[in-house]
Amino acid sequence: MSEVFTPEEAAILHPYVTNVDRPIFALKNLPEEVVAVLFAYYSRSRDSLRRNLLKLIQEKDLDLAERLQWRAADQDELALARQKAKEFHEKWVVGYGHASVAEHAVAHLAVEDVSIVASKIIEDTRLASFTEKSTRYVVFDRDKFYRVPCLMASPHARLYEETCGFLLGTYARLTETVVAAIKRETPRGEKQTERGYETACKAKSCDILRYVLPAGTLTNIGVTINGRLLEHLITKLLSHPLEEGREIGALMKGETEKIIPTLLKYADYNAYMAETRQAMEALATEQVAGLVPEEAPDVSLVRYPEDVEDQLVAAVLYGYTAHPLRQVQERVRKLSHEEKMGVIDEYLKRRGKHDQPLRALEHLTYTFDILVDFGAFRDIQRHRMATQTPQELGPVHGYSTPPEIVRYDLLPTYEACMARAQEAYRVIATGFPREAQYVLPLAFRKRVLFTWNLREIFHFVQLRSAKQGHISYRHIAQQVFKEVERVHPLLAKYIRVDLDDYALARL
Ligand SMILES: Cc1cc2nc3c(=O)[nH]c(=O)nc-3n(C[C@H](O)[C@H](O)[C@H](O)COP(=O)(O)OP(=O)(O)OC[C@H]3O[C@@H](n4cnc5c(N)ncnc54)[C@H](O)[C@@H]3O)c2cc1C
Repeated sequence: MSEVFTPEEAAILHPYVTNVDRPIFALKNLPEEVVAVLFAYYSRSRDSLRRNLLKLIQEKDLDLAERLQWRAADQDELALARQKAKEFHEKWVVGYGHASVAEHAVAHLAVEDVSIVASKIIEDTRLASFTEKSTRYVVFDRDKFYRVPCLMASPHARLYEETCGFLLGTYARLTETVVAAIKRETPRGEKQTERGYETACKAKSCDILRYVLPAGTLTNIGVTINGRLLEHLITKLLSHPLEEGREIGALMKGETEKIIPTLLKYADYNAYMAETRQAMEALATEQVAGLVPEEAPDVSLVRYPEDVEDQLVAAVLYGYTAHPLRQVQERVRKLSHEEKMGVIDEYLKRRGKHDQPLRALEHLTYTFDILVDFGAFRDIQRHRMATQTPQELGPVHGYSTPPEIVRYDLLPTYEACMARAQEAYRVIATGFPREAQYVLPLAFRKRVLFTWNLREIFHFVQLRSAKQGHISYRHIAQQVFKEVERVHPLLAKYIRVDLDDYALARL
């Protein structure tokens, strides 16, 4: 159930949100910078967006009266402009299929109290912008997990409720114990303030305990998305096999139709998406029947460019010539190794601390098969300049255990959580094989195929191997770097990576 506001609060909120009583709503009449701040709060605040907006208005940190007066005065003129826009879109975007025009209409959507499973389905739409509740800075509420309607109506309802409740209860119960253990292990540094130290210990404990959170845990996401993509996202959700996906799609459609009605005309169930998925699932099951999944390294580089130096040098030079690629390639083949490295060096050596490498690196692509815990997948999936094919979450690859759990003598409790979740999964999967994933903790591992271009690898490795990152994805980023270094050492030296394992909690 969505948060309840008093009639006075609802009246204050009403001009800025498309509803005050449902978990999904669009923002309106707010300056763009304020929208960005409100979405940024998701990452650090336990409160809902509407509660944070209310606080800003009531504490007079946000004076919107003038803006609203201006809007009211212009209503007649705006109504006329809207009607004209509607006619234009109906003719050109809907009628003639000029879909790119719809990219100029943008919606800001608050998506609250959806499961982490659903958040990944939404964020798979890679051209949009997202900010999500942090598992590091926000403590998740004990009772906030998605009640899967078909499970709640089945004989598994109690098992599902009790298992998710047990996992979230253990997460809450262990917080103090883990914070105390971190403090014993890593006393406050001389230069650290008491407040800074407390915050760092809390954040570290959240990093350790997030492994226990069930995938059905509820989260919040701020979404900024253009009309063209929104139509695609809603279509994808309405065609999704999970009921939660379809529910979210319907709510999203209802709310965004209040903002950009004409552009969402074709946002509907799509038989091509839904039936192809069903057919492929059946076919894949048939094709791999009897094949037991093999042991493989967590990070396997399965495809990479062969003559990488030649390819890169040709791609770099091409843009500065008037020749066909074939001719440039022939010339590059005749260069000495030193000359080729000279071109690459000249291209990359001026890059400052905050500069991205230049675009020719995108012509080289690398495919990685990665086995990753769901918590780390949640983070890595957010990198959009990539092609990702995730497999569904299940217990087949087991789970990760953070080293602190062992060091702090919490292994029996941790293993009991995993065993209980795994058993609940087994029972629920007999009737609901897809919905059973909601009960598995973020510690459970799944496979994902990533194809990254070299430019994104530069970005991903630098950002995700950095000290401030979570250890689980830091490990993946370091392995990705080592694999590129193994096959292309001369290029890898330009990638910025932090290979320190920071084995002890550093605060
Ligand atoms: C330590 C840490 C903590 C984090 N905490 C949170 C958190 O609490 N909540 C949260 O939601 N996320 C969090 N993130 C995720 C982060 O905000 C990014 O979403 C994620 O790292 C993806 O990287 P990216 O946005 O740089 O770009 P990528 O998607 O990897 O794209 C690469 C580059 O392309 C460009 N680009 C891509 N898409 C766009 C676009 N639409 N507009 C403009 N430029 C674009 C940018 O230059 C970008 O850097 C955290 C990340 C780290 C490392």
